[in-house]
This record gives sequence, C-alpha cells and structure tokens, in this order.
Amino acid sequence: MSMFKDIPVDVGVIYEGERIRRKDMHVELGGPDIKEKFELARVRKPEEIEDEKVTIIGPDIKDMKENGSYPFGILVEVAGEKLEQELEGVIERRIHAYCNFIEGLMHLNQRYDIWLRLSKKSFQKGLNSFELIGKVLFRLFKSELPIIEKMQITFITDAGKVKALYDEALQIYDARDAKARGLKDEEVDKFYGCILCQSFAPTHVCVITPQRYSNCGAISWFDGRAAASIDPKGPVFTIEKGELIDPVKGEFSGVNEVVKKKSLGEVTRVWLYTAFGYPHTSCGCFEGVAFYIPEVDGFGIMHRGFKDIAVNGLPFSTVADSTAGGRQIDGFHGISIEYMRSPKFLSADGGWSRVVWLPKEVKERVKNFIPKELVDKIATEEEAKTIDELKTFLKDHAHPVVERWKEEAVAVEEAAPAEEREEAPAMPVITASTLPIAAGGFKIILKDAKIYAKRVIIRQEKSEKTEKR
Ligand code: SF4
Repeated sequence: MSMFKDIPVDVGVIYEGERIRRKDMHVELGGPDIKEKFELARVRKPEEIEDEKVTIIGPDIKDMKENGSYPFGILVEVAGEKLEQELEGVIERRIHAYCNFIEGLMHLNQRYDIWLRLSKKSFQKGLNSFELIGKVLFRLFKSELPIIEKMQITFITDAGKVKALYDEALQIYDARDAKARGLKDEEVDKFYGCILCQSFAPTHVCVITPQRYSNCGAISWFDGRAAASIDPKGPVFTIEKGELIDPVKGEFSGVNEVVKKKSLGEVTRVWLYTAFGYPHTSCGCFEGVAFYIPEVDGFGIMHRGFKDIAVNGLPFSTVADSTAGGRQIDGFHGISIEYMRSPKFLSADGGWSRVVWLPKEVKERVKNFIPKELVDKIATEEEAKTIDELKTFLKDHAHPVVERWKEEAVAVEEAAPAEEREEAPAMPVITASTLPIAAGGFKIILKDAKIYAKRVIIRQEKSEKTEKR
C-alpha cells in the first residue's frame, strides 16, 4: 500500500480481527490489569491544532519492558470547517477500527475500557514508536473522513498524566450520554446500524435507537445520525424503522430487513427490548452482559471490569464467551451501561423488576435510573455470592421475582401429570445457532439448537468440590 511505504509493517483491513495472545505480545497498553486507560476524541478550533503532530507523554514503545502492561491514553484532536462536537463519539470509535488495520496491533473495546497489544513480530519488524502509529492514524482518518482537515494525536503512558485525563474523559463520556437521553424510540422514524464489529463477529449488527444505545456504549443514536451523514457508505448507516410489528418486544420490519441483509442472511428477526426469542446480537465489545439465572428466574448483570466471580459462579470471561460472536442467545445479552439507564432496558422481560444481582460498582453508576422501590431489593456481590445467598436475599427483600416463583410453582403443579410433579420445569440452558460436538471421530453440527436440562451441574475441572444446582 503506497500510502504506508514508510511504515515497517503492513496496514490493511485484512488485519482487523487479528488476535494477539499473551505469549506473542511485546507490550500491552491498558487492558484488564490496568485501572486507568482511555481514548478520547475532541473537536478543536483550527488554530489549536498542529497538523499531524504526535506527542508522547511517558515512555515510548521502544522504552517499554518486554511483556509489560502500561497505563494508556490516546487523545485525538481534530479540526475542520464542517466538524461539530457531535462527531466526537464517531471519530473516537474509529480509533478502534484503524488501530486494528495495523499488522500486529490489536485494539479491543472502547472509551475507558481499551485494551491494546503489540505483537513481538511487529515490534521486531520496527514498529517501535507511537510516532509510527500516529502516522498511520493520520492517513487513515483523513482519507476515510475527509472533513477532518487538521489532526494531532497525544499518546500518554505516564501513569499520573493518564489518571488526570482519565477523570476528565469520564466526565466527557457522561455528558455525551446525558445529551442523548430523553428522546424516545417512538419519536423518530429512523434508527442507525453499525457493523464496525463484524471483523470480530461477522454476523453482528448493532441497531442503535434513541433508547437502545449501542452495545459498546460508544455510539448513541445522535452519533449514529452524525456518522451516517458524513460517511453514508461507511460502517454506520441509516435504518428506516418500517412497520412496527411488536411494540413490547421491539420488532420493526425495517430493522429485520436491514439486519438480514447486513448479517448475510444469518439473522432474520430482532427483538430490541428482550433477551429472549430473537434478541439483539452481541459482538464482543459490549460493556456488560445481562445473564439469565434460571434458579431465580431473574437477570444478573456483570460489567467487563468485574474481577470477581458472578453470583452464578462464573467469571466475566466465561459469561462473555457464551454471549459474544454475533449470535442470538437466549438469556445471554450484551449491553452497554447507558442502555441500563433507558426506560426500554429489557422492558419486554420486566426491566429492572427482573434484575436480581449486579456488581456494586455498576449499581452505583446507574442507581438514579433504577426505580426507587427496587434499588434495595437488588443484590450486589456484597449481599450475595452464591445462588443460595441470592435466593435468601431476594425473599428477605420481597423482590418482585419472588412472586414469579410462586406463580411458576402453581403453573407447574397444575400442568404436570401426577407422576411428573417432582421434576422441575426444564429451562433452556444452551441455545446456539451452530453447536459443534466432536464424538468418535465425527463432528456433529447442530443448527439452531436449544438444549433443555432438568438439572445443571457446574464442576471445576481441577476439583469436584463446586457443585451447583
Ligand atoms: S458495539 Fe456496535 S456500535 Fe459499537 S462499534 Fe461495535 S458494532 Fe458498532
């Protein structure tokens, strides 16, 4: 690619989706071991920008210890006659895509959650300075978004400076999100779609509505509108809502049509406000996951930064693996934090009255948006660490799901013939569009599988001690 002759590694769309494992990495920037990290785009006045200037605050890549993890911030500042503040979120989200175009550079997640790795191979080829990464970003941004006339980038690896700007970035994200609140899905005739994450989840399409923020939490309906207007052929596009098929579940003919086309026929229907049936697909960079807990008929929620084990005994990585990949999976639902603040949040499933557990940190962030009468009825890791503790907590606090247990017990009692009464109702424990099973030298692929089980036993491979119903 002539545009990148002076860059020691290749640059191109084929590197999107490239994973870099720990053993192959030279350094890691941000990521789960680092508390403070961020990426931020700001629109400035032309005179405030020194075009194509890269500033590095803290150690550059070549000065970093091999295999080290570093605090990290990227500040992208742009100017242009037609650029408005409204576009900051859109420009910021492109950092993810363009970093991933660089051979041997992996960028995951967004905003305050970024996680980058540089491979040993690319480092050895000479990709050893942020100056080079900055050069690539300038060229990609300016060629893809010509309304950017001037641009400067600051890479920050100094812990103190990252911390200071991190706090500022959080306030900017919050202000951006707050601006997008208030508008209702019913009040617009267009939604927006995004397929930026198809490099990692090829059948995933985000449907961004005023009240269903994108899974990554980085693109609001307003950002979608701005992105589609400046780059209509780009990864963010307009979806005409079409006919309202189901106002409760959130099904629209226009959404179904576009998602079918953009997922190449894999996903044919989407219900926007539920985690069951035809839920919105989940890519891999969702901020959190809502996971169904069959034992209590409610939802747990976990965010990416949660280091502990969830109340169902699983870490975030396992729950995220069950959720990701652009599939529609009953009861495993990728969400953004901002969607939790929306009145449409899982509204078809009962919304907040169906949420039973979430980490304290998330609860604090969304507390003002949880109906007042429910706030104290929802447990955190401090009140419940196991399903049994959770059941006790929910009963003691008269959580609305407890009523459902009674209703279900009566329904089962009435429906089941006498000889079957003692068996619990089966819950779907696995649903998958494609489920490969290897057995006896054959590979069996179950399409659109839904597996029901009367009992689920989770055992740790090393010890047989942990057994849960
Ligand atoms: S999560 Fe959705 S909105 Fe965000 S970048 Fe990925 S596809 Fe786009």
